Amino acid sequence: MGATEQQLQYLRQLVDGANRIAVLTGAGMSTESGIPDFRSANGLWSKDMSLAEAISIDYFRRDPAGFWRVFRDIFRIKLVGGYQPNAGHRYLAALEADGKEVTILTQNIDGLHGRAGNRRVLELHGTLLTASCPDCRAPHGLDYVQQHELPLCRRCGAALKPDVVLYGEAVPLIDVAFQAALNADLLLVMGSSLEVSPVNLIPVEAAQAGIPCALINYTPTRFDALFDLCVQGGIGETCGRLSAAS
Ligand code: NAD
Ligand code: ZN
Repeated sequence: MGATEQQLQYLRQLVDGANRIAVLTGAGMSTESGIPDFRSANGLWSKDMSLAEAISIDYFRRDPAGFWRVFRDIFRIKLVGGYQPNAGHRYLAALEADGKEVTILTQNIDGLHGRAGNRRVLELHGTLLTASCPDCRAPHGLDYVQQHELPLCRRCGAALKPDVVLYGEAVPLIDVAFQAALNADLLLVMGSSLEVSPVNLIPVEAAQAGIPCALINYTPTRFDALFDLCVQGGIGETCGRLSAAS
């Protein structure tokens, strides 16, 4: 597994030739930072199939205390500050530093793209780093959330909701994300199983619009046929080889 020399050369050609690059990233982007993804063999998903129900807006409304217990367990919220961007995040930050207009469309909620230095980051599924009051909208930081088993709004006392898009909620930034992909000269998809809707339709629309699309992912996805290039390999390794040879 891993990119062939020919694939690497083609990928480098696509990146070099593009000024505006949209990058759709998923949980696979952060596994090399030590954050497990949902669908790989070691991912969180495979341990308990009821997780989709557990991190749903319905469960939050029904039982906020139970929700927060499970949510903390799944996302290891206490550890979130300890994770560092990896070679893949740094590669995307370097593209921007080199003068490309890079827009990151991420499904991740770990904040690592911003920490690596990318400035245009759309966190499509929200962020783990804050929580807000569903009633009065008052925002609360991670420090406060970590101090309380069931974090309550300091202003009105309602149970806080993490600023993460839960199953059953709409994706507020989805239109902006489609726009960014459709305005790009190249769409890169990295570390996503492309199983979560509506985000997985972004490459579908981009490919239909004739925008070159490339995928770096360990495992095949059901949309592989849409891509001009599919690299089945690790993100860190592929990005390392890309930057070494350029
Ligand atoms: P996913 O878990 O469904 O898929 C991840 C994909 O990345 C898999 O196909 C896997 O083969 C691949 N992969 C894993 N490590 C890789 C690596 N180092 N190099 C190349 N490929 C690698 O992830 P998804 O598509 O993002 O959907 C999961 C949902 O879970 C998202 O909605 C996201 O919000 C959430 N989530 C986020 C985080 C995070 O913020 N880091 C972690 C887990 C889940
Ligand atoms: Zn409130």
